[in-house]
Amino acid sequence: MKTLELAKKYQEYVVKMRREFHMNPEASMKEFNTSKRIKEELEKIGVEYVSCGGTGVVATIKGSKPGKTVALRGDIDALAVIEENDKEYASKVDGLMHACGHDAHGAMLLGAVKVLNEIKDEINGTVKFFFQPGEEVGKGAAAMIADGAMNGVDGVFGIHVSSDMPTGTINAEPGARLASGDMFKIVITGKGGHGAHPENTVDAVVVGAALVMNIQTIVSREFSPLEPLVITVGSIKSGTRFNVIAPNAVLEGTVRYFDPTYTEKVKSAIERIAKLTAETYRASAELEYTVVVKPTINDETCAKIAAEAAAKIVGKDNLLKLEPSTGGEDFSEFSSVAPGVMTRLGTRNKEKKTDYPHHHNKFDVDEDGFVYGVAYYVQFAIDFLNNYKK
Ligand code: ZN
Repeated sequence: MKTLELAKKYQEYVVKMRREFHMNPEASMKEFNTSKRIKEELEKIGVEYVSCGGTGVVATIKGSKPGKTVALRGDIDALAVIEENDKEYASKVDGLMHACGHDAHGAMLLGAVKVLNEIKDEINGTVKFFFQPGEEVGKGAAAMIADGAMNGVDGVFGIHVSSDMPTGTINAEPGARLASGDMFKIVITGKGGHGAHPENTVDAVVVGAALVMNIQTIVSREFSPLEPLVITVGSIKSGTRFNVIAPNAVLEGTVRYFDPTYTEKVKSAIERIAKLTAETYRASAELEYTVVVKPTINDETCAKIAAEAAAKIVGKDNLLKLEPSTGGEDFSEFSSVAPGVMTRLGTRNKEKKTDYPHHHNKFDVDEDGFVYGVAYYVQFAIDFLNNYKK
């Protein structure tokens, strides 16, 4: 209860910061001004910080008592979406928008810095604040880790706002919560020529078409129906003209799963089918396969601490259960280094029109949800550190 009261003190500040970030969105890994503004705010608060992973920032508050180190993470990047909101804080940058709520994450994390700085005498250990760039491209967390962000961190906690959940609700559950986000690209090489004389060519369009169909059998025939797996071919590019046989085709797609052992199995299945399908039609195929984000798997203990902390903030009845999502989150980079938990905070409010899906050009968040978010960051940090108190 006390945490919520403290969070309320900074509600106006958090809303102001969120609107500032919202009006000035920046692309992934290019959050130069956002990063600068965060540092200025940390300076004003009087908290030490370092740049990390390019445009990322890590702030640190050491409690007066020794203990473990917990990291609170908020991502800060925007998206290439043209905003269609007519609110006074709408994006001022053409073609860029905070359409996923990362503006709220950065602002709430600043609010949490203020609260925890105020009560640092009561903290049993150290709290780190990860203002993370480049979540939307799955690069920021890895860049911060490469820069040493996770050194000495014993547990990590993340919040994502959600327009699927009403304001004043929280989701915190153990286990696999978000899927991997792998990317593949298949380049097919055939032999071009005149559309009237196919016998002199190797048609890459035909190979591409066959390949799209054959890839579908990986999910349906090679993997268990009881374990989720998605393989989507999202793009196929080939050919220049109606009467020209295309020499090349390029297929691109994404793979989603929760079981980390799937990476190699799926990759080798795609490769086998690509090569052998191409060979069937006298062409060749090369596969590029990249794990952009790993599955996000919430640690059992961290999830328990997070659920109990949430109950203190919004009440037990407002703890919602959610199905895992085949969406991806690069929070998984942090939580594969130390135990972690990724949670969701409701910001859905029909009257305020904050019920549009994420990445929609009318996406918005209910700012009344920020107090719960700030309090939740703070409560988790305190509870995590108390749990491991020496
Ligand atoms: Zn997001």
